[in-house]
Amino acid sequence: MTVFEAYADPAGDVGSFVSLGDNGLRALDAIGCRAAVAARSIELPLLRLRSGRGKQLGEASRRRVTLMRGHLVETLRGLAEEAGARIVTGRRLVDAAGGTATFAGGGTESADLIVGADGIHSRLRTVIDPDAPVPGYAGLWTVGGRSAHPVEPGAFTIMFGAKATMVSAPTADGTLWAAQVPADRPPAGTPGPEELAALFAGDRGPAAELIRQTTQWHPRTVMQAMPGGVRRWHRDGMLVLGDAAHPMGAGQGANLAVEDAVVLAKCLRDVPSVGAALARYEQLRRPRTDQMLKVAGANRDAKVAGPVAARLRDVMMPLLFKRFAEKGGAWMYDYDVEWNAVSAPASAST
Ligand SMILES: Cc1cc2nc3c(=O)[nH]c(=O)nc-3n(C[C@H](O)[C@H](O)[C@H](O)COP(=O)(O)OP(=O)(O)OC[C@H]3O[C@@H](n4cnc5c(N)ncnc54)[C@H](O)[C@@H]3O)c2cc1C
Repeated sequence: MTVFEAYADPAGDVGSFVSLGDNGLRALDAIGCRAAVAARSIELPLLRLRSGRGKQLGEASRRRVTLMRGHLVETLRGLAEEAGARIVTGRRLVDAAGGTATFAGGGTESADLIVGADGIHSRLRTVIDPDAPVPGYAGLWTVGGRSAHPVEPGAFTIMFGAKATMVSAPTADGTLWAAQVPADRPPAGTPGPEELAALFAGDRGPAAELIRQTTQWHPRTVMQAMPGGVRRWHRDGMLVLGDAAHPMGAGQGANLAVEDAVVLAKCLRDVPSVGAALARYEQLRRPRTDQMLKVAGANRDAKVAGPVAARLRDVMMPLLFKRFAEKGGAWMYDYDVEWNAVSAPASAST
């Protein structure tokens, strides 16, 4: 297997932090990667939701680890190389046909299967389907960093403020935070600390102070979404997965990308032809990713709520969250890729 990565070095301390739940961790466990990822992570079992008025909107205890995105990439890349994968950085796929991928600046590579794990702006998605939708601005932008200001130990907190949402996660050497700001258009540049802190001036809790005591800034991200979803995932020995097939935004996207990869490996292991394996893969993954896309949309809506919708959210969320935490969320976190069970071809299992 060869992995081609567009950037020269996507690992290291790039990006911000990412959280993996039980479902993502279980998928990593199936392929022997969990311990190495856990070693780079911090465990934050308590999820706490608050409103800017200081009201508790929800609380749940579940296995969750948080780590820097770059550390996740670095760890998985190392394990893939140990398992015999060839990783080539600085090569961007620009086209593919007949089992041959073409890269920017020339050069081609042939393979039985070309997998586009190339993110929300996937090039392979439009190769597979030239009419595939293009992502659009989701009405939310985000910026974050590492702060010297402490927060509640062991708790991953989401505070839905009057003007923006603040996510915080304590680590051994400070607090990781990310502000998610609704706006009709994202600002041209990243606002300064005081301007950002002012967004949380009317809210209770440490949000403004986290920003003021930031020691390391993470890049601003403009959230994108594809509300209609991606109709076509594969054709002629080419497949998209992860954000390329179902961009989720913040929440479960990385977890699902890991699940996708493991389920694909299982289908290729068990189903005799590549075409039939891809059909089986889609059959296994569509229902789950469709369901998760609905949740991702609702999560985004909760963060871009105007004043009236925000009031409603603060009233409804405790009830909805309690129900979700008690039983409704099981489908999300209890999902198991069932690595040891043989995957039947698609035609045999409809
Ligand atoms: C602010 C924010 C917070 C988030 N927090 C969480 C979280 O806590 N938990 C969670 O589960 N998810 C989270 N997500 C979602 C998660 O980041 C994505 O769902 C996940 O990274 C998708 O993984 P992927 O491998 O499909 O794509 P990506 O992570 O986007 O990786 C795609 C890779 O392909 C490379 N590439 C792109 N084009 C080409 C090309 N043409 N040729 C070669 N290489 C190419 C890119 O350089 C990149 O390395 C968050 C997202 C955002 C924006």
